[in-house]
Amino acid sequence: MTSQDDDFRAAFERVGAWIDDYYNDPLRYPVLSRARPGDLIAALPAEAPLEGEPFERIFADFERCIIPGITHWNHPRFFAYFAISAAKVTVLAEALAAALDVNAMLWRTSPAATELEDVTLGWLRRMLGLPDSFHGIVYDTASIGGFTALAAAREALGLDIRARGMAGRSDLPALRVYVTEHTHSHVEKAAIALGIGRDNVVAVAVDENFAMLPGALARAIDDDRAAGRLPMCAVATVGTTSTTSTDPVGAIRAVTRERGVWLHVDAAYGGPAAILPEFRWLLDPAHDADSIVVNPHKWLFVPVDLSVLYVRDPELLRRTFSLASDVLVTFESCVHNYMDYGLQLGRRFRALKLWFALRSYGVRGMQARLRAHIAMAQELAGWIAAAPGWEIAAAHPLSVVCFRYVPDPALDPPAVDALNLAIMDAVNATGEAFLSSTRLHGRLVLRIAIGNERTTRDDVRAVWELLARAAGVR
Ligand SMILES: *Cc1c(COP(=O)(O)O)cnc(C)c1O
Repeated sequence: MTSQDDDFRAAFERVGAWIDDYYNDPLRYPVLSRARPGDLIAALPAEAPLEGEPFERIFADFERCIIPGITHWNHPRFFAYFAISAAKVTVLAEALAAALDVNAMLWRTSPAATELEDVTLGWLRRMLGLPDSFHGIVYDTASIGGFTALAAAREALGLDIRARGMAGRSDLPALRVYVTEHTHSHVEKAAIALGIGRDNVVAVAVDENFAMLPGALARAIDDDRAAGRLPMCAVATVGTTSTTSTDPVGAIRAVTRERGVWLHVDAAYGGPAAILPEFRWLLDPAHDADSIVVNPHKWLFVPVDLSVLYVRDPELLRRTFSLASDVLVTFESCVHNYMDYGLQLGRRFRALKLWFALRSYGVRGMQARLRAHIAMAQELAGWIAAAPGWEIAAAHPLSVVCFRYVPDPALDPPAVDALNLAIMDAVNATGEAFLSSTRLHGRLVLRIAIGNERTTRDDVRAVWELLARAAGVR
């Protein structure tokens, strides 16, 4: 048994060296995994081993079986979805959090975990320029933060749904949630889970920049009320998933405030840009929203998963979810027991990695990285706009560019879609870069998202050359 400690140290050093090599040679693997469906399942036994195996064997299989099935989000030419990357120091924070293995469900189950959450989310709130009246809580994802906000919005209606539920109640009108066709799909999932129903998620019309029309929102709310339905919540997005368009949050706030409707602001991707003075305007109009989601695991150099929900009324959130259990009863006053603020009892010590990231980079280091990403996206957009046959498909205020190749205006739309899909597939098949697509006005467009701290101008240049080559223009 004594050798176990030495084994642990050796294994830890081995893993540390592996991670260091991995970071130092980020182009080593194809960015998009070449695995075919079922490869890993076929490679591994159907039964768990009866006897324990040595670390050497497990780690060898990690390299042999697992790594080929990894799509490298750390690759500097990962441009799909929303590119992400974490400060290296956060890997150490994750190791420490795993070593401590605390469950931060109650304040007393690790006071530092709860209080570090309060401290780091306070730092972040100030970085984002949000007023001190917002209280932040960490959840795993924006999807769960959004769900939690909608649950609070439902509780705020005062319909006693917490106690009586929704089924079989003739006194309960249909509850309505307002989004646009560009709102992230988790809002619809939340409506499913909260008993609101997909049919009661109303897609409000957008303008030519994919931004919600506040007048159309006002009409939708008023029409619903006139028809006996109950407007519950409007969701405004700062940085939509397709194009990073931003809804006019200030005008939407005026509409919802006048009508007593909860305003949730989904700033999962776009919110972090508000740490730049020149992008403060993104969140300024959200200052009196009821709830805001920002994802440090998307664009603030913290590894998945860590999302933050800021609410103006944390007591309402607590009222929505708290239950007194005999086992978990606790006697401290003036502390937060975060198990009371959401579905989960158990909570990882996530704040540690945010603390490490913020201290390691500092506000200025984070700002410099975001500015570099935005500048590279703007330069890429310039190359695309200037190239014959290529066109920009949407405004690109942040670090995402949507575009397509239309070599001949006479081509019919399905042929253009097929051509662009073929170009994307050809680039992705090289293993040298990875991009994804979206649909705008029913048409396929290619999409490049820059968000990895290792991405340089050369990487952006490289994907642009791959695209041009795939399109056959050189
Ligand atoms: C990425 C994203 C989400 C979902 O984020 P998760 O943390 O993965 O749930 C929600 N909304 C927007 C606008 C996003 O960009």
